Amino acid sequence: MTKRGTVSTNNIILTFDSTDLPSEIRVGYVKVRVRPFVPAPMRCFRCQRFGHTKDNCRGRPTCSKCASQDHTDETCDSETPQCVNCGEGQTPHSAYDRSCPAYVKEKEIMTIKATRNLSFKEAREVYNQSHPKTSYAQKPRPGNETSSFVKTDTVPSCSGMNLSQKHL
Ligand SMILES: [Zn+2]
Ligand SMILES: [Zn+2]
Ligand SMILES: [Zn+2]
Repeated sequence: MTKRGTVSTNNIILTFDSTDLPSEIRVGYVKVRVRPFVPAPMRCFRCQRFGHTKDNCRGRPTCSKCASQDHTDETCDSETPQCVNCGEGQTPHSAYDRSCPAYVKEKEIMTIKATRNLSFKEAREVYNQSHPKTSYAQKPRPGNETSSFVKTDTVPSCSGMNLSQKHL
């Protein structure tokens, strides 16, 4: 009979003083490859949001299955899952689903944080820069187009006559 209950692992967690992660270290005569340790995203068991634990939660208790604030997942009888972090417009899933887009995003931020040795805030900024949201800044806003006519007013050219007529 084999002994059960123990898991053999080749992974050890090391903490380095320097900010530069070495690609490998020597343990005795053995060279060991070093990879950054990426912890799993922290999801609050109370409000289901990411980035804090239930001990310092300021949110409202929310069901992880259906995003309702009237009950918890223990008493949930909802048929359709609903993620509090994603809302509608996504494939229905619960907050603890590993394929949840919000979870995947948090995991990517954790990876950036670990591999580049950044703070949460910095890692989040790096993530947002590489995943820009749809920007409306480039689109011309209606009602603002007249401003270009005002500017050409001061340019002395043969079209000045036409412009001054427009402003009459
Ligand atoms: Zn919370
Ligand atoms: Zn529920
Ligand atoms: Zn989700």
